[in-house]
Amino acid sequence: MVAYLDNAATTKLRPEALAAMLPFLTDRFGNPSGSHAVARAAKQAIEDARETVAAGLGCDPSEVVFTGSGTEADNLAILGAQHGGVAVCTAIEHHAVLHSVEHIGGRVVGVTPDGIVDLDALQAALTPDVRVVSIMLANNEVGVIQPIAEVVAIVRGIAPAAVVHTDAVQAFPWLDVATLAAGCDLVAISAHKFGGPKGVGALVVREPTKLAPLVHGGGQERERRSGTHNVAGIVGMAAAIEATVATRPATVARVTDLRDRLLDGLARDVPGMVETGARDPSTKVAGNAHVRFPGVEAEALLVMLDEVGVCASAGSACASGAIEPSHVLLAMGVPRAGALGSLRLSLGTDSTDQDIDLALKVIPDAVARLRP
Ligand code: PLP
Repeated sequence: MVAYLDNAATTKLRPEALAAMLPFLTDRFGNPSGSHAVARAAKQAIEDARETVAAGLGCDPSEVVFTGSGTEADNLAILGAQHGGVAVCTAIEHHAVLHSVEHIGGRVVGVTPDGIVDLDALQAALTPDVRVVSIMLANNEVGVIQPIAEVVAIVRGIAPAAVVHTDAVQAFPWLDVATLAAGCDLVAISAHKFGGPKGVGALVVREPTKLAPLVHGGGQERERRSGTHNVAGIVGMAAAIEATVATRPATVARVTDLRDRLLDGLARDVPGMVETGARDPSTKVAGNAHVRFPGVEAEALLVMLDEVGVCASAGSACASGAIEPSHVLLAMGVPRAGALGSLRLSLGTDSTDQDIDLALKVIPDAVARLRP
């Protein structure tokens, strides 16, 4: 048996998404930019999907721009909305945002030890030349949820020329993004984080936001993102959005129970374990369990867990051969040793009691064996 506890990395394709996609990978192969019947059928599918995506994100269909990933949606939001001005983001953003902001010499604002954006530092960063502020709705490593409505109010008050982007890639499976991000000008999602296919995302570009395209060509997506549409991917994403929204409250309740059983069990059986962030539903998504075992090397732990069928991930990256601690944990003030001994167990729609049983059986033993 395999316990897949890496749903923040990617999720299994939902059956509804697969069923919706199959015709567009076979008979309905038209290019939606054409004008004949086969093309028109593909175009109709894209426009139907656009309506579904818009409903799930709380915007007008004309405000949806289909992209090739969440990364592309984030890049388009920041690079497309900066118009020569300054970009601002938090220190715990996904690299799709952080590296885009750094690429154009933007400002990076710190977070509190709980991982919440430091609102005083944000205010200080909002000079009149700021054009885009990007603050994620939910974090991919520790699951912390940002007070995005408060952020929007601050930006509108201090830097009215700036637009607000939120990376809702990790939020969408768990949170009512349509409501929470209603005040944001730009909202990014990625299909493969909620049971859709990989390689497709969307950016909400709310009127009257001005966006310069990054990809030039045939002028698709009303000149905002050229390139022949990934019809099957877009249709699959729409089906996954519909299924996610319809089942979200029930999934959140069920997964919260599983996640809490996992964390309570680990706290009981692993001495010295530290849980990252409070399990408050208003500040942490249901699917995230992030723990630290100071003194244990996460990379070694992951290898041991993999051998016994637990798929998890560490909040560290391997850069030029050296294990680097997570930028998110360091920004939250977690000491290096704790950051290097961190484990992210991320649950999803398909997570079961059996997954939790296996994790609780093997993790305490693996940690004990790795401890000096
Ligand atoms: N933003 C966040 C918060 C993510 O977690 C991810 C993926 O891990 C991305 C953006 C990038 O999305 P994609 O994998 O579609 O490029």
